[in-house]
Parts: sequence; structure tokens; C-alpha cells
Amino acid sequence: MSSATSFGAGRALSLLPSVDAVLQSATAEHIGTSVRRERLVQMARTAISEVRESIKSGVADLGEDEAVIRKSLLKETEAQLLMIWQKSLEQSLQRVINATGVVIHTNLGRAPLSEGARRAMFEEASRYCNLEYDLTTGKRGTRGARAEKMIAELTGAEDAIVVNNCAAATLLVLMSLSSGGEAIISRGELVEIGGDFRIPDVMAQSGTLMREVGTTNRTKLSDYESAVSENTKLILKIHPSNFRVVGFTESPSVAELAELAHRNEIVFFEDAGSGALADVSDHGMKDEPAIKQSIADGADVVSFSGDKLLGGVQAGIIIGRRNVLERIRRHPLYRAFRVEKLVYAGIQGTLESFERGTEFQDIPVLRMIAASKKDLGARTNSFLQKLLATVGKSISAEAAEHSSAIGGGSAPGVHPETVVIKIKHNEKSANLLEETLRTHKPAVVARIVDDAVVVDLRTVFEDEENDLLDAIVSCA
Ligand SMILES: *Cc1c(COP(=O)(O)O)cnc(C)c1O
Repeated sequence: MSSATSFGAGRALSLLPSVDAVLQSATAEHIGTSVRRERLVQMARTAISEVRESIKSGVADLGEDEAVIRKSLLKETEAQLLMIWQKSLEQSLQRVINATGVVIHTNLGRAPLSEGARRAMFEEASRYCNLEYDLTTGKRGTRGARAEKMIAELTGAEDAIVVNNCAAATLLVLMSLSSGGEAIISRGELVEIGGDFRIPDVMAQSGTLMREVGTTNRTKLSDYESAVSENTKLILKIHPSNFRVVGFTESPSVAELAELAHRNEIVFFEDAGSGALADVSDHGMKDEPAIKQSIADGADVVSFSGDKLLGGVQAGIIIGRRNVLERIRRHPLYRAFRVEKLVYAGIQGTLESFERGTEFQDIPVLRMIAASKKDLGARTNSFLQKLLATVGKSISAEAAEHSSAIGGGSAPGVHPETVVIKIKHNEKSANLLEETLRTHKPAVVARIVDDAVVVDLRTVFEDEENDLLDAIVSCA
């Protein structure tokens, strides 16, 4: 830094606005209508210190006139203040239009809820409700009784327990049933499921000694059989949700493993992960374990997520034999893992669609997975016509064949055929278009494929189409 600049910087630093001056600006006044004063003062201080840092790291020549310098520094500080405020708004949880075609999008909150689930959560459970109160007797009732009963009825299990998520469910089952003993698991199922959920670590955390059998691609019933000892408490089967081993593979069926477990008076537990309650085999998902079938085949305990293929709220659902589930309910950590009223309501609202047999119409995840290429093509074309009639000449848009994805670590090999809209701008890059959509209100999240922004209506609700249209038009 030359001495001339450092002299200039020193002078600029001495002319920075005071907190009071910033608070009196129009920007602060505007933000002040939404935040209380202490928070505004804090943000003003941060804005001033950011301008101070930028002066120190070398700043554009502000000239000589003191009044001009003061004015421009105040303007700069106001701009910083506005940015700080907008950034904190940006981070607020807000509705997003998912135009990616990834149905169970982990970063976008996994399963969008059905109207039934939304209504139950908002209308029935968000004020006071009969969470632990029996309205017929006026006495204390069982927490979440209706939701757990519905799960049991729909899966054919004797009993059900709801906890915070499937990771908690798996840990709780192991802690309650195999802590201090051994659990047998195939080497092909020592999986990691998103982030930090790794089966060997979960086993260790639960105090269970892991007895690995077989190989990565092939494990036989006899491998399990010869590993059973007097310390064995459990046989565990984990669904390898987010990957597939193909080719020379083998693993025993649920029925065979359940029979082996019962012959040795131990428990058979399946962590099914996504867990399909509906029959999704017509939609390319022949590998997804059907929860009902596992129970029918003799599994003592099955765990699965509430917000993957079930299409409801985040929850871990544990189903199985009543005497086994009673042991889980009695574990001290059940209380730590249990869910609140909104979750029970969300499950109840979701499952009512299964009870009625309208799950493929009502539950967004299932409706989106089941949407055919033909129907999506027709919907996409009519949206495209509307778009072309509205959007300026700078944007080109055309329909193209593509594939969607299930997501959420479910059905990794399934890519339902779809028809997308490819959007390009004759001057702006695809990255810039994608950013414009993402920062629109409501935000639109789309993919970039081959230098074009790609919009897949599979995951866009019909009543979001006007907002989507506005967002695309704003890119022009
Ligand atoms: C997704 C998954 C989990 C974790 O479920 P969360 O609901 O995300 O906690 C556990 N096990 C399997 C097999 C899974 O697929």
C-alpha cells in the first residue's frame, strides 16, 4: 500500500458513519418496521465494521471533499445493512418450487405433505388437542394412539411405535433388543445412509457386538446359521437404500431369516429404510421392500421412514410383535426419541388416504412417482405454450425427453421417463438463469443440463404453475 493510499484510507476510516447516523437512514427505518431496535443496532454495527474492513483492504478513490466521502460511506453502509437483512430473510424457512424432478429431495425437505396431512397438523393439532386425553372417558389417554393403531392396521403388524426418524428407530431397536449381546449382519449390508448414519457405528453406539457374515455380494443362509451362538440376540437385515449390488449376488429372504431366528429363539429385525406401504412395483421399484410383506413373512420388528416412500412427515416408524415392541417402549431413551403432536397428526392425515385407498391421488410423493410420461408430456406442452406466449424474445424454450429421479436415498436405479422444458437465454448463461430462478419469490430450484436450465413439472404442483411462469418470465 502506498503512503498516499494509506493516508486516504485513514481519512476514510475517520469519516465512517456513526451507528446513530446509520439508524437514521431510510434503509434502517425500512428494516426497523420488521425488527426490534437492539437487533437493528447490532446489524448497523456489523455493516459499519464490514465497510471498515473493505476500506482497510484497499478502496476506490473517494476524492477529497469530506462531505462527498461521508455521503458515499453512509450509502455503502446502508447497502451492507440491507444485504445483512436480506441474507437473514433468505435463510428463513420458506416455500420452494421444486422443478428438479427429484421427488424425495433431501435438501428441499423430502416428502411434500398431502392436503390431509396439512389439514390434520394445522387444523387439528396446532392448538390444544387430545394428544394424551381420552375424550370418551375424560381420563388420560395413550399418546398417539390413533396414528400408531392405523400404522399397525395398514401393515398387518400387532403394534407400532413412532419416533423422530428412522435413524433413531434403528438405534432404539438395537439398544432395546441387542445391547450387551451380538447381532448378525451380512457384510453386504454394512452401509452408510446419508451423512453420518453408518451401520457399524450405530451398532457400536447401541452396545451391540456386530457379527459380520458372508461377503459383499453374496451371503447365504448357512453363513447366518453358523454364526448363531448363545450371545446372539438378533439377526439384522438392512435395506441398502441408496445403492445396488448387481450381478453375482445372493442373500436369504426375509422369510428364511425370520424362520432361522425363531428356530433359535432370537429376534429378526429389518431396517427397511424407505419402506413402501403402497405397491410401487408398477413404477419400476421392484426392489423396494414392501412393509406388509416383511411382517407377513415373519419379521419381528421392521423400521422405516415416515418421509420417504410413505410420503408423510419426518418420523421413524417401528412395527412388529407386541411383546417385542413393549421392550422398546420401556427403554429409557424412548422418551427422548418420541415425537410431538404435529407429527402424530401428520401421520394420521397421511394414513387416512391409505385407509380410503386414495393414496395415489392424495399423497404427492406417490402421485408424482406414478405420473406417466404421456400425462407429463401433455401438461408440459400446455405450460410451454403459455410460456412462449408470455416470455420475451430473449428466451428460448422447448420440450425435451428426459428422466426424473426418486431421490431421498430411495430406489437409486429408478429413473422415470419424463418430458422437461429446456430454457436458454440468448445472452445470459444457464448459471445466471438458474440463479435468477433460485432468488425469485417464491424460489424455483431447477437443474442445469448441457448449458440449459431444465424444468421438470413432475415435482411442480399444478397450483404452482403460475408462480413458475412468472419466475421464468423474470429471467428475460
Ligand atoms: C433413510 C434410511 C435410514 C434413515 O432414515 P431417516 O428417516 O433419514 O433417519 C435408515 N435406514 C435405512 C435403510 C434408510 O434407507
